[in-house]
Amino acid sequence: MSEGKRKNKIYLVDVTNRDGVQTSRLGLAKLEKTMINIFLNEMGVFQSEFGFPYTHHEISYINANLELAEMGVIKPMRLEGWCPMIQREVENSFKLTKLKHVNLSISTSKQMTLGKFQGRKNREDVLKMMIQSLEKAKELGAETVGVNAEDASRTDDDYLIRFARTAKEYGATRFRYCDTLGYDDPFSIYQRAKMLAEEVNLPIEIHCHNDLGMAVACSVAGAKGAIDGGVDTYINTAINGMGERAGNADLVSVILAIKKSSGLHDKYILDERIDLSRAWKIAKYASYAFGVPLPINQVGVGENAFAHESGIHADGALKDRRNYELYDYEELGRGEPELVETGRQITVGEYAGIKGFRNVYDKLEIEFKNDEEATKILELARYANVHTQKPLTNDELKFIAAYPEQARKILTVTPLR
Ligand SMILES: [Zn+2]
Repeated sequence: MSEGKRKNKIYLVDVTNRDGVQTSRLGLAKLEKTMINIFLNEMGVFQSEFGFPYTHHEISYINANLELAEMGVIKPMRLEGWCPMIQREVENSFKLTKLKHVNLSISTSKQMTLGKFQGRKNREDVLKMMIQSLEKAKELGAETVGVNAEDASRTDDDYLIRFARTAKEYGATRFRYCDTLGYDDPFSIYQRAKMLAEEVNLPIEIHCHNDLGMAVACSVAGAKGAIDGGVDTYINTAINGMGERAGNADLVSVILAIKKSSGLHDKYILDERIDLSRAWKIAKYASYAFGVPLPINQVGVGENAFAHESGIHADGALKDRRNYELYDYEELGRGEPELVETGRQITVGEYAGIKGFRNVYDKLEIEFKNDEEATKILELARYANVHTQKPLTNDELKFIAAYPEQARKILTVTPLR
């Protein structure tokens, strides 16, 4: 491999707010999705796939977050919406929101084309739908358009090359290779990503699911293939691996795999903006927001990730941490003492009153100009809790106090009929 090829970079596109929230039994309030966008931005993630711009209940959230981006609160991370390749939905996405970045999706495998369209559309129709949606999105003002091949891993090479080449020809910014069913292994996805990079020469997103327990391994192998084939690559991640069925590629594990594994570190370049020290905070918050505890052995952020008990291991780790620890907990933002209140606690919920509320904000060292302002923020906090149904976190309370106008929009969910 020539040195030149290695100049291409690996960027991260996080899909927690899209794939994560469409998971069965799981979901996030719009305020929680907003906090995740803020934390992903702080972590240096390139792009957040932050929702479904054509669904009416997300419109206020989508527009308020785009406003936060314009204000510089969520910057420089891109906010991108996911949309199926259906003309009406593409039109709605741009009519209802101020979206600038979009990923358009359609199935490409024979299985799904036959199985989902039931003979109403063939694979030539799929190509036409892709061109129409892509042109429509560009016409309506999209600055970047990613084109997603759903079930790419079960799609034959010839068709996939044709699909990606056509996308490039009509102005797609990136091609997303979706291993929708987690069917690939690290060896197969490396080959396919490399082949697509060489044949099409368009940046490739790698989107992997964990049905065979290989989502992270496939993601980094696919990224390596894309770079060895000569293009930039964008790994799709989800915080704590949240996602449909067995989940998506875990954000923290993907970063660690690129930065620490023997074959990738120092050889492949991860976006320099990535700040691993935010890992602890974002994993804890997502766990709280989703209501899904972190497994004790979760990579990097699980309780046991740096715990040693057996005699030889404990002795070895104490003598030199490098004996039994591949990386340092401080790198992930761990090791700071956390204050846990063991006595009286005042929390903020939908039935909170002004006295308790002011006590909570006093502790956060946030002052209000007057009673009127405090009452206004309290009202917003009550509505926020109607959405989250659990005590508001300090970061959520700080956000509401700092950006009351945007918070109000995010909390506005009004059915049209
Ligand atoms: Zn997916």
